[in-house]
Amino acid sequence: MTAEIQQVLKDVWGYDEFRPLQRSSIDCVLARQDSLTVLPTGGGKSLCYQVPALCLEGMAVVVSPLISLMKDQVDALQSCGVAAAFVNSSQSNAEKIEVANQIRRGDLKLLYVAPERLLTERMLTFLKQVPISFVAIDEAHCISNWGHDFRPEYRDLRVLKKHFPNLALHAFTATASEAVRKDITTQLDMQDVRILVGDFDRPNLTYRMLRADNRLQQVLEIIARHPGESGVVYCISRKEVERVAAAIQATGTTALPYHAGLEDEARKSHQDAFIKEQCQVIVATVAFGMGIDKSNVRYVIHAGLPKSIEHYQQESGRAGRDGLQSECVLIYSGADVVMWKKIMEGDSPEAFAGAVQSLNSLSDLCASSKCRHRALVEYFGQSYHRENCGACDVCLNELELVEDPITISQKILSCVARLQERFGAAHTAKVLAGAKDQRIRELQHDRLSTFGLLASDGQATVRQWIDQLVTQGYLERRGEYQQLAISESGRRLLRRDGAPRLTANSPKQRRQTNSQSNSSNDWDGVDRELFEVLRKLRSQEAAARSVPAYVVFSDATLRELARHRPMTVDEFSTIKGVGEKKVTDFSDIFLAAINDYARQAR
Ligand code: ADP
Ligand code: ZN
Repeated sequence: MTAEIQQVLKDVWGYDEFRPLQRSSIDCVLARQDSLTVLPTGGGKSLCYQVPALCLEGMAVVVSPLISLMKDQVDALQSCGVAAAFVNSSQSNAEKIEVANQIRRGDLKLLYVAPERLLTERMLTFLKQVPISFVAIDEAHCISNWGHDFRPEYRDLRVLKKHFPNLALHAFTATASEAVRKDITTQLDMQDVRILVGDFDRPNLTYRMLRADNRLQQVLEIIARHPGESGVVYCISRKEVERVAAAIQATGTTALPYHAGLEDEARKSHQDAFIKEQCQVIVATVAFGMGIDKSNVRYVIHAGLPKSIEHYQQESGRAGRDGLQSECVLIYSGADVVMWKKIMEGDSPEAFAGAVQSLNSLSDLCASSKCRHRALVEYFGQSYHRENCGACDVCLNELELVEDPITISQKILSCVARLQERFGAAHTAKVLAGAKDQRIRELQHDRLSTFGLLASDGQATVRQWIDQLVTQGYLERRGEYQQLAISESGRRLLRRDGAPRLTANSPKQRRQTNSQSNSSNDWDGVDRELFEVLRKLRSQEAAARSVPAYVVFSDATLRELARHRPMTVDEFSTIKGVGEKKVTDFSDIFLAAINDYARQAR
């Protein structure tokens, strides 16, 4: 079987090897052992069930939550010559009957279907009469109300095991939370389940977290680093979405808004324009994202703080699914937290408290000067082994650091000690900055020796340093009111033993970030001019077939073509990402373009 699946990978998808977790996941499917595979976005979950579906007898049923996702997956499979189809409400009766006939004839290897349709009496009865190889459940976190995309119709999937006791279930998700994982396997009543968890790091993403300082200007600068490339900008409110979209549009880059306030029709057409690359930038609230399989999103900008680290991971994770280097920038300020609190005012007290805690964790992460890759991976409970990731603002030394962090830290720690470890960050910052408000006077904190010790740095900066000392473990937050306390390493720091990192807060002096710092290797040896020629050709071919451009060829494959410049069909077929069907469909036209280009270049 090993040789066979390897061959399928090569012939159908044009790839030479599996990624490590894909192998194990596929082995479960082949062995008919229930499994849950957790891999981050872009990790390659689809192949884990698509490859074995082609090797096993019968048809695999894939449960998928959204029509747009199903369509994308089926388009991609058909473009590789795989017999796949979906049934959903977007189809006419005639189309549905045609799919049913294909199933009866045993022509299909994969059938995509939404949970509510799968669980209808009619569908179940029908499927019980045909040979099914296994059931794959995509976006399986939708089954859990611990997750961020809970869908009640997913809940009902627990009856699957009753209807198909002999079929193995294989669930797939990108969600890292332990609680959600547990929920998935219990809800689905999985037996002797194998749980496979991949590496959560996304090494091809470069993370930057910037303090807001003329947000709009910051957003436009980032977009300007990516001429002609696709990107997503997330904003907190609809109003912001409209404002930012208009501003981008005014610079001559095509941008469209996407939020829950728009008519369904408009939302759909904006999303379509983005997927088909008729529009470069989508400016959106969190409403946008799920159902987007677009693999060549080259940057994701958060023009305001997302709701939580989980949300950040999800949303920023939409960049670079194709594995090529991509940029994720988060622009944040304290005002964002205030704004979120306003939005969530109506929530129950528990929900509100939980949400505030999530926001604080993310603010802490932003303000900290710990490697972003490390911080994210460790947050999700994995360890990170590289000293310098080479792909975040911290490791790339883009953060301006203060010159004497120890002295500043000592001032802060002494103030916490003087306050007898009984006050929170906000109050401590006020005392250090020398704010004389009523409460401070009542408590006589203006008489403390540490009062006003950091007055020239301002309260906001001091607050940020406190957060940094917390994330670096010198300070701890304790108790119901999150009072600051000095940790063991904080005590050592008071004796000048330690190496805190505190960021300087003078945005005007901030070094220009160098967008080239990480983008060199993916482009190594790529003839960029040829790449542009091929990209245009890809657009035309995609439009002619009514599929997204990345379904024709991924950016990664397009770069390979512009790197190796194949001149013959044989050479063409060795390119990574070119399977047999792609050779048949596209070799003539792409080879002609490459040969043309080579002739002109001579
Ligand atoms: P996920 O569903 O986990 O977000 P996808 O299944 O969409 O990820 O895969 C992401 C990208 O990686 C796709 O462009 C896919 O073709 C590519 N890919 C998957 N597996 C491999 C592999 N073994 N070798 C090369 N590319 C792969
Ligand atoms: Zn780093």
